[in-house]
Amino acid sequence: MTDADRILGGAIGYPLVGKIALVTGGTRGIGLETVRALAEAGATVVLTGRDEAKAKEVAAGVDSVEGASVSAVGLDVTDAKAVSTVVRGVAKEHGKLDIVVANAGVLEDALLGMVSEDLVDRMLSTNVAGTIHTVQAAARAMMRKKTGSIVVLASIVGERGSAGQVAYAASKAAVGNVARSASKELGRYGIRVNGVAPGVIETSMTEHLGEEVLGERATDTPLGRLGKPEEVARAIRFLASDESSFITGQILGVDGGLVL
Ligand code: NDP
Repeated sequence: MTDADRILGGAIGYPLVGKIALVTGGTRGIGLETVRALAEAGATVVLTGRDEAKAKEVAAGVDSVEGASVSAVGLDVTDAKAVSTVVRGVAKEHGKLDIVVANAGVLEDALLGMVSEDLVDRMLSTNVAGTIHTVQAAARAMMRKKTGSIVVLASIVGERGSAGQVAYAASKAAVGNVARSASKELGRYGIRVNGVAPGVIETSMTEHLGEEVLGERATDTPLGRLGKPEEVARAIRFLASDESSFITGQILGVDGGLVL
């Protein structure tokens, strides 16, 4: 990225030069686009994925501005101890932690009658417990400096419910309340906690729905199309940046109007 790109990026985006950011589940989809969006605005970004080698490969392919970097570390967010170690490690290495995006999530569809105990465990351990571990570790790392922004990934289905997604929808409703509750606790430390609630976004998570269902979702969406991961990433970048300095405890819909 050239100086001209950087200046232009600062003029039209949200300058994050000097900020240190961590994005969980940054290896593809919304997480990867968030890594790109933060890096484009000048942040030094650490992304995580369960396979460290793969995560490092992904990080090597993302541009950063001069003086910043994009790196990667292996992390399974269901492991609370590992989350704490990684978050603490990033804050220690860089002297601070300004932005944490708790993006890692999984989706498995099943009609109520087919929902197994294991499926419930998988949805809750990654989406809910993983988000709580991440927000908790982020808060601990940010408290001393009395500043920071945390963004979680909720979902439109957490607000509206969704047939065939009982466990996932429940997990995403919980994620919204992680943000709301944590924002009430952390405001006094200057830490903001917000979320985004994407509609249907074109990533590997929604591929399995198939052309017909995705076409129906696009038709149901007032803007008449599905969302792109970079469109969610720009909303996350806004909430992560000082542009949203008086916003906390909010879940911002990024859904083309589908929630209406
Ligand atoms: P993808 O499936 O494309 O990416 C998911 C990411 O999460 C991957 O980087 C994956 O990394 C990571 N991940 C999954 N499980 C774990 C884990 N246990 N520990 C660490 N990382 C993990 O999903 P999307 O980009 O579509 O979704 C991102 C977030 O947005 C999710 O929380 C999702 O629920 C939410 N969302 C998505 C919507 C959509 O329409 N796509 C709509 C609403 C919300 P790896 O496999 O390398 O470990």
